Amino acid sequence: MKQQIRMRFPGGRAKAFTLSYDDGVEQDIHLIELIRQHGVKCTFNLSSGEYPPEGYEWEPGTVHRRMPLSVCQSVYVGDDIEVAMHGTHHPFLESMPTPAAMWDIINDRRELEAQYGRLVRGGAYPFGTYSDEVVGMMRLAGIAYCRTVKSSHSFSLPRDWLRLEATCHHRDPDLYELAERFTTVKNVRDPLLFYVWGHTYEFEDNDNWGVMEGLLERVAGRDDVWYATNIEICDYAHAFSELIYSADGALAYNPTSTDLWAFCGGDTVKIPAGGTANV
Ligand SMILES: [Zn+2]
Repeated sequence: MKQQIRMRFPGGRAKAFTLSYDDGVEQDIHLIELIRQHGVKCTFNLSSGEYPPEGYEWEPGTVHRRMPLSVCQSVYVGDDIEVAMHGTHHPFLESMPTPAAMWDIINDRRELEAQYGRLVRGGAYPFGTYSDEVVGMMRLAGIAYCRTVKSSHSFSLPRDWLRLEATCHHRDPDLYELAERFTTVKNVRDPLLFYVWGHTYEFEDNDNWGVMEGLLERVAGRDDVWYATNIEICDYAHAFSELIYSADGALAYNPTSTDLWAFCGGDTVKIPAGGTANV
């Protein structure tokens, strides 16, 4: 039997694009304007214990300007934005005593959920550093994925969502080449994920907002790409892994509440939430 089944994103799309930006800085406001102009989504990784006081004024010349809580609460709103964790106090988690690291992680999740009134289930490791123990703490804290600062230069979906590698940082010299490859590749077998991360203060520091504008002009507005937050992609992939097959592999039952799509035998098939389909 040569039957093969490969995941497709919602609507049968073979490609997904997502962004991940850290630290909750003022320049995120401009990124949110850009993603809304282009119809893409972004995840923002915030530290619940690192807001400056309300009305705080940064010294002139400071580019890394975190926003006070009340401003953040008015900025990180909407279905096109995910709020994710980034360490209560942005520590090197792997260098902390275990109980202190555990507290920092679970407290960050609890505080962010209280501050933004939504579930927080993803994150990015502060400084990109972690250990096997820290990964275990994330899992126990109910974190479904956590991003590192490694670049894969690939469009493969993560195998280990708690050691998630991005495709690249926005300053990567190959950024536009990757965008070109992502948008032009045909006859896709396994689904593709183009995942870009960074800090928006870098655009001010390097005076290069054009890098992001150019990226969005290249990848946004395409029918064959699903634009999603990190957690939407993570949840979709996990839902797909819940499919239950008949013994001959010809029937798939979708026990989840998410409509799922698969590519099998040259056809794209929808397996509706709670339904069964021939695959
Ligand atoms: Zn950070």
